[in-house]
Amino acid sequence: MPNAVNDPKTQRQSALDDLNQYMCGQKGGRKLLSAELEQYKERGVTHGWHIPSSDTQPIALDIVVDENFPYSAARVALPKKGPGGPLKWPHVESDGVLCLLSEQATVSSQHPVDVTKAVLNEALELVKNCRNGDIIDDFRDEFLSYWNIGTDKNAPLFISLITPNGPSRHVIAWYGNAMYICADNRDTLDGWLTRLRGKKPNNDSMFQKDVLVWLPQPMIPSEYPSTAIDVNSLIEEHDPDALELFRDCVAASPKSLNVIFGATTKHGACFAAVTLFKPSNKEIEKGFRPGRIPRDVSISRYLSTNKIMRSKVHRADHNWVHGRDQDIRQNSLKKSRVLVLGCGALGGSVARLLAQSGINNLTLVDHQLFDWPNASRHILGVSAFQKNKAIELAETLQHDFPHLTGIEGHPVEFGLSATGLINSLPSFDLIISATGRWEVDTLLNGLQRSKVDIPSVVYAWLEPRAAAAHALMIPQSSDSACLRCGFKESGRLLLPVVNWPDDESLLQEPACGAVFSPFGPVELTWAHALVSEIALGTLMQSVISPTCHTWVGQRNTVEDSGGSWNPEWCDLIGDPGQGGIVVRREWKRLPDCPICNISATT
Ligand SMILES: [Zn+2]
Repeated sequence: MPNAVNDPKTQRQSALDDLNQYMCGQKGGRKLLSAELEQYKERGVTHGWHIPSSDTQPIALDIVVDENFPYSAARVALPKKGPGGPLKWPHVESDGVLCLLSEQATVSSQHPVDVTKAVLNEALELVKNCRNGDIIDDFRDEFLSYWNIGTDKNAPLFISLITPNGPSRHVIAWYGNAMYICADNRDTLDGWLTRLRGKKPNNDSMFQKDVLVWLPQPMIPSEYPSTAIDVNSLIEEHDPDALELFRDCVAASPKSLNVIFGATTKHGACFAAVTLFKPSNKEIEKGFRPGRIPRDVSISRYLSTNKIMRSKVHRADHNWVHGRDQDIRQNSLKKSRVLVLGCGALGGSVARLLAQSGINNLTLVDHQLFDWPNASRHILGVSAFQKNKAIELAETLQHDFPHLTGIEGHPVEFGLSATGLINSLPSFDLIISATGRWEVDTLLNGLQRSKVDIPSVVYAWLEPRAAAAHALMIPQSSDSACLRCGFKESGRLLLPVVNWPDDESLLQEPACGAVFSPFGPVELTWAHALVSEIALGTLMQSVISPTCHTWVGQRNTVEDSGGSWNPEWCDLIGDPGQGGIVVRREWKRLPDCPICNISATT
């Protein structure tokens, strides 16, 4: 039964009363004045208390709560006038609040005072460690948190495509809309911008040469540069070899010059950027005729005590986007080449999942145009109407994942006459056949059985009404089983999961020969995951022999549509019960398979 005591407003008031009583009961404890609360206004703080230092409390602390308390925990902060503070001690945010709980931490809303006591104890432990200087290395391990505190509010956005490793080197940046995109070279940058914006950048004046300085370890706050001459000193001290790269850029006397600092932390590589601004020509050329100023003089005048701008750098390179440097599969997936035949409701979404998984080289093939009713099941929406599915999908994926360099679409129908495509098959690591057309699948099967260099194939298909989805992997040069081993000559599955009354599963469209199988986008989603999983498993070599993964739909949906579990499936594989399950099984060779037997005798 609902009870008014559980009402969040009642809970909050009671928690605030309890906490107030506890805080004011501490030695010297009192409520924060509204002027003192100002320090924390950015985080929506509504109430706060102050506990002064005493014999039991080695440092004065503020305790604050926000509008979600007690569903959010109380936070502990260093008052402005006390010791420590942001960038002096680690784990102190810009407003003095201590970083004690991770963003994902869960707290009990039932015991707000106990939670606050625990947080206070952690705060005292942290303060002790900070005072001892024990955790100064945390500034390096969590470099980005601290660098970002010290960045300028008006600083441009930096997006990095730079390969996150040393050595120091020249890089190139493109400037547009208050953001810099930095890359190792012009080709990378041109390609990325073209994929993102659909057109090649043609204004050379928007590009400039900058420098990447790879530091042996991340900076601590006392090393953060504030002026151009600080930048020079920092480079001189940590990577003298990079000094000439830097001075080379300075000598060109650009209006502004970016220096990107990179380093490796325990949690992956990180970047930070500073922008130097050219002093006025008058200052640089003072005492010399224009154009006659010696290089060294010009450089040293550029490197003035003028303020620089510090900026955050957002990594947009492959290993960061796909797994934040933690996904060891990426080195392999990045190089994999996958061909997707059929970019319809099934293949289209599988292609997107593979791109999201980090497959850099995806070739998409489909000859069909997008039609209005496709929108209910297809990854592309109605804006693709009357456009070729493969080309449109490739462009969408290029735009959404501009760091993936090898996505292309081809408006080709796969068949014997598509000789270019057939000749290119050996260049792929995996083929996914998601056309749902028996003629395509049998042609592929024939090719795979007759040539040694056709890569592994994942055949994907749905049973009528998406009552079940299958993803079958036949490896390259397999002599154990083929696609045909599980099918009748007509393309009917030997062992379907569901039996239907004859021909009731397909409905006719008002056009000659046009039939479709009614099912919705929700059932399809299981199939997308099924096919993508076996595809990735094949690329990562966790699936190596002929294997079929089957998703079995919900029993009530099947029965409502007039279908029933196939008794033969139940005997051989097992009763799916209520359905909604995935079955993974070996795909066995059919003793009298006409395709395998021809292969065996020739
Ligand atoms: Zn066979």
